[in-house]
Amino acid sequence: MNSAPTRDSAIAPTNARATTPTHDGAIARTDEGAVAPTPEGTIAPAQGRIAPTTPATFDSARAYEHLRRQVGFGPRPAGSAALTQCRQYILSELKAAGIEAREDVFDAMTPLGHVRMVNVIATIPGRRADRIALATHYDTKLFREFRFVGASDAASSTAAVLELGRVLKARQNEYTVELLFFDGEEAVVDWYRNNDNTYGSRRYVETAQKAGALAGLKALVLLDMIGDRNLTVRRDSNSTRWLTDTVWAAAATLGYGGNFRSEETTIDDDHMPFLRAGIPSVDIIDLDYPAWHTAQDDLDHVSARSLQIVGDVVLDALPQIEKRLSTVPR
Ligand SMILES: [Zn+2]
Repeated sequence: MNSAPTRDSAIAPTNARATTPTHDGAIARTDEGAVAPTPEGTIAPAQGRIAPTTPATFDSARAYEHLRRQVGFGPRPAGSAALTQCRQYILSELKAAGIEAREDVFDAMTPLGHVRMVNVIATIPGRRADRIALATHYDTKLFREFRFVGASDAASSTAAVLELGRVLKARQNEYTVELLFFDGEEAVVDWYRNNDNTYGSRRYVETAQKAGALAGLKALVLLDMIGDRNLTVRRDSNSTRWLTDTVWAAAATLGYGGNFRSEETTIDDDHMPFLRAGIPSVDIIDLDYPAWHTAQDDLDHVSARSLQIVGDVVLDALPQIEKRLSTVPR
């Protein structure tokens, strides 16, 4: 259960096909005939367009409700009963959206001893078996001095990934979309000592590598702390440049250039194990958040509007990412 190789080869026998317009057209017609009979194939003669469907849209009211429910579970550090409740909520929402998910349970060795952690890995099959991951962590940092409910860190990104899953499930995607909910991103004691961070993402990369399933992962889009009412996302210098450019271009197109800024910063986060393994990755994070790791990271300091902005940007960028992956040989 933990490290099963993906079901990719079974899902998408179209993997080996070229992506010429002719092929796409043919594939699309086949799919439509079987799944949803629409006249799309005749309307759009596949001018390089990958998925000609009427897109479902990101609903920030739904996303905000996911955020609010998580905050309602209280502090959710790795290994806590509240995090188990939160995970059950994630699993039940994925199920309600018709998305298949599995849990990867592991024991992490932390400075406070062994902690049982669980990653949630959900899959939305696309035309290709190759995957693009949308990721977040869902644990909150352990604080004993105050009550930390992590409205932005990490309820906001968890909420957005859930809502993105609902939207993408309703579409025919070119690439398989993997939704990754990492446990144990936060340091138990000190981020900078004893590798005390990103337990869940490191676990995912290790496990996928051993199972031979990492090669099928073509890109990772990580969301973290995107709830800030005053959303300010800076480019991360660790992230893959073309992916960052693609996401920032989408933001500019949508009129969110004020939120997605051109200044650069350097972020150490769950994308690092993926980058070290050679997977193109981008971190969308607003660390310019005065409430970060304080008792003020609560509902008063986040907004549905910020979730909407990030949701819209990711959905706009995704076809561009697919296009780049399918046309530029790696
Ligand atoms: Zn944090």
